[in-house]
Amino acid sequence: MQRLRELSRRVEAVYGEMADTFSGYQRASGLTCRDSCGECCTQTTIEATVLEALPLALHLFDQGKAEQTLTQLEELPEVSGCFFYQRLSFDGKQGHCTVYQQRPSICRMFGAAGYRDKQGQASLSVCKVIKADKLEKYQQHLIMLTANPPPMMMSIKEQVSQLDYELGNKHYPINQAFKLALEKVLLKAYYSSFDGEQIA
Ligand code: SF4
Repeated sequence: MQRLRELSRRVEAVYGEMADTFSGYQRASGLTCRDSCGECCTQTTIEATVLEALPLALHLFDQGKAEQTLTQLEELPEVSGCFFYQRLSFDGKQGHCTVYQQRPSICRMFGAAGYRDKQGQASLSVCKVIKADKLEKYQQHLIMLTANPPPMMMSIKEQVSQLDYELGNKHYPINQAFKLALEKVLLKAYYSSFDGEQIA
């Protein structure tokens, strides 16, 4: 269990850096999300690794909610939006993340982030809502890509995944990643209780 906690602290340290880089870029560029927009969270194609979901799984365990949450995740339909998204409008486009502090790294890059295109050139990925709201700003930042490059998604993905090859390299539908992370934490806690290892 101590190993998982140490690993989780290291993942969270990368998340701390992301707050400076990704959120910082989004704020400085003006390519920020619309208030209460949750369109990204409603997508059923979001994927994460078990490692990305580890801080949340440990947080739920510490709150005594791991088993209950695991059961709820197991009851979800195979294809579904993120379990932790709270809809605030009928169409689901308005809402908020109920686990914002512990959300996986993929969620921290929603909105605007850099990527490499098929030719290996740096480019800017901006969600369709921000593009529609702030087309001029988006175009300006495309023009200024070389002078003001956005933080790259791949470099953060690698920074997280290299912390643990086994847990950090395979991507799953996001609810599946949460489920596997919770199973891992609960299993470790179970064996730690026999070893006399402190769970906290
Ligand atoms: S964890 Fe939070 S930010 Fe990520 S998809 Fe779910 S609701 Fe959205």
